[in-house]
Amino acid sequence: MMENNITSNNTPLEEEEDIILEVKNLKQYFDITTGFFKTTPLKAVDNVSFKIKRGETLGVVGESGCGKTTLGRTIINLYKPSSGDVIFEGLNISPYSDLKKIKKEKSFELKSLKYEKNKKIKLKKKELDDLEKKELEENLDVSRDYQKDLDEFISKTNEQYLIDKDNLIKEYDQKYLDKEEEINKAINKAVKAKENALAKLETVTKESDLESISKVDLELAKLKEEYDEIISNAKEERNNGIILAKQNKIKRQAAFNKMKEDYNALEKKLALELKTSNDEAKEKELNEIKKDHLNDILVTKEKNKGAYKVDLSIAKSKFQTAKAKALKDLKKKEYDARRNSKYYSYLDDKEDIIDTCNRSVKRIKSSSRERMKKFRKNCAMVFQDPYSSLNPRMTVQDIIAEPLDVNHLYSTEEERRSKVLHLMKLVGLSPEQSTRYAHEFSGGQRQRIGIARSLAVNPKFIICDEPVSALDVSIQAQVINTFADLQKKLGLTYLFIAHDLLVVRHISNRIAVMYLGKIVEIAETNELFDNPMHPYTTSLLSAVPMPDPNMARENKRIILEGDVPSPLNVPQGCPFHTRCPKAKDICNIDVPKLKEIIKGHFVSCLLYDEKEESVKETIEETLDSNIENNDTNEAINND
Ligand code: SF4
Repeated sequence: MMENNITSNNTPLEEEEDIILEVKNLKQYFDITTGFFKTTPLKAVDNVSFKIKRGETLGVVGESGCGKTTLGRTIINLYKPSSGDVIFEGLNISPYSDLKKIKKEKSFELKSLKYEKNKKIKLKKKELDDLEKKELEENLDVSRDYQKDLDEFISKTNEQYLIDKDNLIKEYDQKYLDKEEEINKAINKAVKAKENALAKLETVTKESDLESISKVDLELAKLKEEYDEIISNAKEERNNGIILAKQNKIKRQAAFNKMKEDYNALEKKLALELKTSNDEAKEKELNEIKKDHLNDILVTKEKNKGAYKVDLSIAKSKFQTAKAKALKDLKKKEYDARRNSKYYSYLDDKEDIIDTCNRSVKRIKSSSRERMKKFRKNCAMVFQDPYSSLNPRMTVQDIIAEPLDVNHLYSTEEERRSKVLHLMKLVGLSPEQSTRYAHEFSGGQRQRIGIARSLAVNPKFIICDEPVSALDVSIQAQVINTFADLQKKLGLTYLFIAHDLLVVRHISNRIAVMYLGKIVEIAETNELFDNPMHPYTTSLLSAVPMPDPNMARENKRIILEGDVPSPLNVPQGCPFHTRCPKAKDICNIDVPKLKEIIKGHFVSCLLYDEKEESVKETIEETLDSNIENNDTNEAINND
């Protein structure tokens, strides 16, 4: 057995290759109401971790209800995960990871822990009650001495029960307290970190502020002085302008008075001349001169008035312009002085520190939305049912173009149409069919429409959720081949969910087997088929139909007894122990972990646990029986 360390961060596929998607400890629990004010977690996906290489196809198989589809939908975020991380091209797109949600998740864990504790105590009590009852029934006729022994045994059993019960309560209480303490510690740590950072910042800012503020203040005072000087100069200039305007006004008034005097003298002279000559032509000339002079006087009066106003406004506006310019310069210089000073760099630091603290306490929701948007552009899903996953009211071209519309991936109608036709051609549909509705197509063609729609955003990664299970066998082959061709052409990566092992084998590079929300085995395709290690995988493979009747006769079919347990009430210990043909006593107590048994081959089974004494024998036994079955499996390979 290989030494292995699968931890929460140590997922299968260890070599640092070109990993496109990493799923870490992904959980999808649904709260189901099971009574008044009582909910029980339904563990649809429970602590699933894996990585997918670029260009690879990872098949996921398992019975109905094992959580395959929920896993796919949780990865693409159609369901918000209860906890865990989905990392796409190095970007964590889990939306729940803020403190509040971590707290919620932890309280959920505490709830589960409490629930498990009560369940285990109940079971233990029932076990001891049954034992007591059985012993009593079997020993009705025994002698008094034996009865005494029996009493002693019962009292011992009761004592043991009390000890066990106390121990269990203590153990779980401790776990509960530890968890609670852990959460409180984490919250306190985050809050303290923020407080410390802020306190540190305050101290640093205060110390440095004094020095930097005084420097800035000096600089600002200097700037203010400069400004005051500019303003006082401008004021002086303005006052000079006003004085000059007033002087000009006086000059103009004097000229005007002179003009009036001249006119009056002229008028007197002409009146005298008119009196003596009594000449009509002279009178006319006189009136003309009077009129002209009157006009001149009025015009000059108005001109003088306007000139004074203009002089004044020029002087004032010059001042206003100079003041505004000086103010603007001052503001700019002040801003630069503050900006370049240490004081402002501390303010920037403060913002940085607060930002960092906030990020550590709570991941910013908007960035999570951005990451999700980016992820959705690179990731698509093909749904199981080609009948219900297409809108019957939309034409095929509109269905395929919907992701283009949502993500604004075209600039003209022409471009949109040519993209749709290209996608239709890619999946083997003809352009004439673009105006038809979904009900006018066969099942296989509808699934092709679904594939074309998923390719519209030019994704790197596609989750195929049982894409061929609703199709008949001949169509299945066509669609599977379409998937394989597209992968070759476009370098796509698939998470291929199906329950048909032969289909998954045909297309997958690696296969993960799921049971009750957990991955129980994961390995390269050929390795898994040639050397299945988990009893559940072995039984699934034994049910694969064989084309050769002789081989089919020789094939030992392992029929599992009982139904898959409800994920609402997952059995204790190994979840498969209620149906496992190889189950041991320890299997209903210990929970197996996914461990690397052979390079790249991970199994979750206690048979391969190093603590088990018979581990080596068991592996040898399993390997021997697998070698026997290899000949039979060879036939499937060749088929
Ligand atoms: S741990 Fe036990 S019950 Fe579970 S698969 Fe292995 S042998 Fe079976």
